[in-house]
Amino acid sequence: MNEHTHPHEHVHPHEPHDHVHPHDPRGSAFSRRALLSAGGLSIGALLLAACTAEPTGITGSSSSSPIGGAGAELPGFDEFASTVKTFVSGDYWMVESAGLPSHNMMVGITSWQQQFPFPQPFTGDNAFRLPVSPSLAETPVSARTGLFSGAIALAVNGVPIFNALNNRGDDALLAGELDEWGGHCGKADDYHYHVAPLHLESAVGFAKPIAYALDGYAIYGSLEPDGSALQPLDEYNGHTDENAGYHYHGTSTYPYINGGLVGNVTVSNDAIDPQPHTTPVRPAGEPLRRAVITDFETVEPGSYRLTFELDGQSSVIAYTVSDTTVTFDYTDAVGRSGTETFTR
Ligand SMILES: [Zn+2]
Ligand SMILES: [Zn+2]
Repeated sequence: MNEHTHPHEHVHPHEPHDHVHPHDPRGSAFSRRALLSAGGLSIGALLLAACTAEPTGITGSSSSSPIGGAGAELPGFDEFASTVKTFVSGDYWMVESAGLPSHNMMVGITSWQQQFPFPQPFTGDNAFRLPVSPSLAETPVSARTGLFSGAIALAVNGVPIFNALNNRGDDALLAGELDEWGGHCGKADDYHYHVAPLHLESAVGFAKPIAYALDGYAIYGSLEPDGSALQPLDEYNGHTDENAGYHYHGTSTYPYINGGLVGNVTVSNDAIDPQPHTTPVRPAGEPLRRAVITDFETVEPGSYRLTFELDGQSSVIAYTVSDTTVTFDYTDAVGRSGTETFTR
C-alpha cells in the first residue's frame, strides 16, 4: 500500500514536462531520427514508450481477502463483470480492472500528449477502493479549487475519472484534450475520463449508476434512478432523495461529474487517498498541437494501432504489450517505418 508516498501524477496537454520519472533507466535510448524525418514531428518521446503495466490480470491476482465473497457486485459494475471484478474487503469495496474500456478510445483528441492507452495493474493492493458505508462530511471537498491529482471517481466499466478541470484549472473537454468518449491518457499511459461517461447509460440503464465517486456515493446518469426527470442539483452535482439517499449525477456541462466529494474522504497531496497508483516509465511526451488522432484500434488484447494526421499526412503507430516487452512499429505517410522493442 504505497499510495501514500506516490500519488498519481498527471500531466495534461500544454503542460511543460520537466519531470522525468527518476526510476527510468532507459533515458532517451529510442531512435528519434526516423520519426523526426517523417514529418518534422516533435514525436521522438512518443516512441520512448515502454511500459511495465500488467497487460491483463483483472482476475485471480488479488492479494486481499474478499469478505464479500465471490460474485459480490456493486450495481453498475455487474454490467461489466467480464472485465471488472468487485468484492468487499474491510470497509471498502475493492474494484479491480485493467483500466481500459470496451468502447474505442483516443479518436477526436486534437491536443495529443503522445501517450497511449496501456492496460494498468489495478489489482490486489492497487485496486480501487470505495467506502462500503459512505457518510456525509461536515465540510465537502471541492473539485473547483483542488483535487487536480489522481482520480475522484470510478466509472462502472473500471475506468478512472479525473477532475473535469485540468491542473491549470481549465475545462479539459472544452480545451480539446478529450476523445469522443471523454477520455485520454496520462503520463503513465493510463486511460481515464475527465467528464461523465454518459455513454455508459445505454449499458447500465437509468436505474443503475454509471460511476461512483471515491467517497462511495453513486453517480447516476441523466435521469433519476426511478426514471423520472432530473431534479435540481447542488454545486457538487448531487442531491438527496428519500429512496436513493445522497447521490450524484453526470451532466453534459460543468461540473460534468461529482464537483467534489460530499462524503468523508482523506485528501493527501491534492489527491484522494487511498487510490491506485500508476507509474510513468518514460519521459512524458510533448503536445502535438496540430495533430489529430483519426483512428484507434484494439487489434486484440494487448495489441493496438493508432493513426494520426499532422499537416495532412497520416502516420500509424502499432504497439503490443506483453508480459515482458513493449514493441512499437511506426509507419509514416510515405512508407518509412521503424520498430523498437523494450524489455519490461
Ligand atoms: Zn487527464
Ligand atoms: Zn438524483
